[in-house]
Amino acid sequence: MFRKSIYKTPAQLRSMVEPGLITAASLDAAAALMRPGVTTAEIDAAANAAIVARGAESNFQMVRGYRHTTCISVNDQVVHGIPGDRVLAAGDIVSVDSGAQFQGWNGDSARTFIIPGEADADVVDARTRLSDVTEGSLWAGIAAMASARHLGDIGAAIQGYLEDNAPGEGRDWGILREYVGHGIGRKMHEAPSLFNYRTPDRGAEVKPGLVLAIEPMVTAGSEDTFVEDDDWTVSTVDGSDGSHWEHSVALHAGGIWVLTAEDGGAAGLAPYGITPTPVA
Ligand code: MG
Ligand code: MG
Repeated sequence: MFRKSIYKTPAQLRSMVEPGLITAASLDAAAALMRPGVTTAEIDAAANAAIVARGAESNFQMVRGYRHTTCISVNDQVVHGIPGDRVLAAGDIVSVDSGAQFQGWNGDSARTFIIPGEADADVVDARTRLSDVTEGSLWAGIAAMASARHLGDIGAAIQGYLEDNAPGEGRDWGILREYVGHGIGRKMHEAPSLFNYRTPDRGAEVKPGLVLAIEPMVTAGSEDTFVEDDDWTVSTVDGSDGSHWEHSVALHAGGIWVLTAEDGGAAGLAPYGITPTPVA
């Protein structure tokens, strides 16, 4: 049986640069709207406009049964929240996940925002910390990919970062287990799966041609989640807050390049002494 390689050619990697940048632009458009009073549907529309303006299409709209450009998950929702008439308030923690398909190739990325404005300072501090450690764990995973031998090294780096930056009082952050990162290319979701935690299996080889959507999903409490009655939204059982950060990342013969970051990941990788190299 023919089994498609998980490793892409240099030409295929080059085809993934533009959809990555368009995905980043859609999240920039979402970021520009983050203020009290905005609805999640308005954010979704802005993200879609940014994608369409660049001659691309939303790949989320290609997912069976899903009509929106983004998933927007608020407070105790971690991932897969559906945009709608929910009005965002100061202090809300909001994760936006978006993706673009351009000339048959895909990007996938997510960022978490705290809505500015007057809100309980302790709540804002806690949510800011949750988002910061989740983003930090993403960069730890991306940095690990640059030198990893196997996929399991990346998951271990993500979990290790979260443990090294634990909330204190003997507690840990929650790492979602049922939702994972993935390969990306012609399809938004491709093999292999990438676990955001240590596993007994070392997993597939990490080598040039691998493109991964690395996407830690982290909670301030238990990792236990349930799917809401809308059949999409994934929320925490204990009501704790969630955060989701994601980048599509290419490993190539010349090094690593974060496709969904305008700077290729230069800022995020600088603390690790890694300089990203453009896909050529
Ligand atoms: Mg995503
Ligand atoms: Mg993804």
